Amino acid sequence: MISQIDQDIAEKISAGKRFVIASHIRPDADAVGSLLGLGLALMKAGKTVQLVLEDGAEKYDYLPGSEYVIRSPVGEADMIIVVDCSDAERVGSVLNDYGQPDLVIDHHKTNLAFGKINVVEPDQVATAAVLFDHIPAWGLSIDPDVATCLLSGIVGDTIGFRTPNVDANLLRKAASLIDLGADLNHVYNEELVLRSFSAVHYWGFGLKRIELQGELVWTSLTLADQQESGYDQGDDANLVNVLSSIREAKIALLFVEQPGNSVKVSWRTGPGLDVSEIAYRFGGGGHAAAAGADIKGSLAEVKHRVIAETLELLENSSMKNRSIIQKNFGE
Ligand code: AMP
Ligand code: MN
Ligand code: MN
Repeated sequence: MISQIDQDIAEKISAGKRFVIASHIRPDADAVGSLLGLGLALMKAGKTVQLVLEDGAEKYDYLPGSEYVIRSPVGEADMIIVVDCSDAERVGSVLNDYGQPDLVIDHHKTNLAFGKINVVEPDQVATAAVLFDHIPAWGLSIDPDVATCLLSGIVGDTIGFRTPNVDANLLRKAASLIDLGADLNHVYNEELVLRSFSAVHYWGFGLKRIELQGELVWTSLTLADQQESGYDQGDDANLVNVLSSIREAKIALLFVEQPGNSVKVSWRTGPGLDVSEIAYRFGGGGHAAAAGADIKGSLAEVKHRVIAETLELLENSSMKNRSIIQKNFGE
């Protein structure tokens, strides 16, 4: 049974000729994989598609279709689609001339439903998994290139099937994508294993200043670190995954200094805690286990505020746990 929303989307897609698809700034594998997966499926259906990422997709040149990515759209469009973004601001300014998106496809629980139609499924591990479920109902097909892009989004957001939201159903989806022609080994190595010398050098600066207080671990990466290491992507080079592997910590925090007096903050936690709310309070968003925010201020100021509030979150959650244990014991 195809839902009414899927039918509406299928009709809009069938009627449209010119499509613009965009995703978030500093794109990750799910942003790029979802953008390219949907984009290639539309191109193969004979549509004219502009694939837009304000920051480009250099790091993802191993994905089919990455050569089509442009940094700003030109001309009119029949349908504007935004993937893997919880709010319009996350797109950057590239869609400013285009008004409200016609369709938003996402899996963030903090999504503001900023499209005319919103397909937002917070229980899904990745936007690419949402697309895998819906693309056939929209009259599009998944060929080996589309499958590779979607699998890349799933591998990226689950850090290689390691996050607690990975279940048998998700593995079946991944297996179907492999059946459809996706190359898991290639995607896995490119996304999670291979990295540049400068990226690991850059990690070194962050690892040297790592700190642990109670169950919170954090570190920072500065603009000077980028210069010295030669790492020029402006992100954390996935150092946050190393921080979140530390056994003693319940929450890992990473601060990445940005040009223009702002700091990119990433939170990571395991089951039982939710960091999306604290990220939301700081103007960001994300998921229970992984969230982020772009916060104005110097590195020192932002660190001070965020560490204090995150320690408070840990304190409150351990108080809550203690009272649950006491209550159960009393009963
Ligand atoms: P990151 O720490 O950048 O890897 O992001 C973790 C999660 O939080 C991802 O799902 C992001 O989409 C989301 N996120 C990160 N930064 C922001 C932001 N500034 N606003 C909203 N969501 C964000
Ligand atoms: Mn993303
Ligand atoms: Mn995602």
